[in-house]
Amino acid sequence: MTRVVLVGPPGAGKGTQAAALSDRLGVPHISTGDLFRGHVGQQTPLGQEAKRYLDSGELVPDSVTNEMVRERLTEPDAANGFLLDGFPRNTKQAEVLGGMLAEKDTALDAVVELQVPEDQLVARLLDRGRTDDTEDVIRRRQQVYRSETAPLLEFYSDIVVPVDGVGDIDEVSTRVLDALGKRA
Ligand code: AMP
Repeated sequence: MTRVVLVGPPGAGKGTQAAALSDRLGVPHISTGDLFRGHVGQQTPLGQEAKRYLDSGELVPDSVTNEMVRERLTEPDAANGFLLDGFPRNTKQAEVLGGMLAEKDTALDAVVELQVPEDQLVARLLDRGRTDDTEDVIRRRQQVYRSETAPLLEFYSDIVVPVDGVGDIDEVSTRVLDALGKRA
């Protein structure tokens, strides 16, 4: 069973690692950022509501985010586990997630904290070239991480496993698997 949340500042490589590990662990990569970008691209009502938050680097309201995640987690591929990337992003969302899992008599197995020094983060993001990767929005997302998301590390202190996120993709994946005790 692999119910794992990836936490780390924007640019730490959560999405890259979740994508790399999803096959290996046999669980889906669930990225709330990707789900939102999908809705924005399809111009759904949810996407129309979320767009201004993505464009400014603010968090989409919890009510919208939590319901989107609740639906995603009820899909059959998530029954035996998941790699959550970008959710929860504050302690309220973490409480809601805990409730959703408790309803199914499950709980998180681990929270992987990807650690990358601040000076490397902005360089990585500018390299990525997503439309919300302008300098102002990047700065705002880093602030939101520090004030809203970093407190999750305290919230989840019992199950946090810190992983050095500096290195090439395979190196970091191996460290994550080691940290989860899943190295074959
Ligand atoms: P990401 O792809 O994780 O960098 O997320 C991109 C943007 O999507 C963020 O800057 C937020 O606007 C929004 N977003 C993603 N996940 C969440 C979340 N859990 N709660 C609120 N907003 C989110």
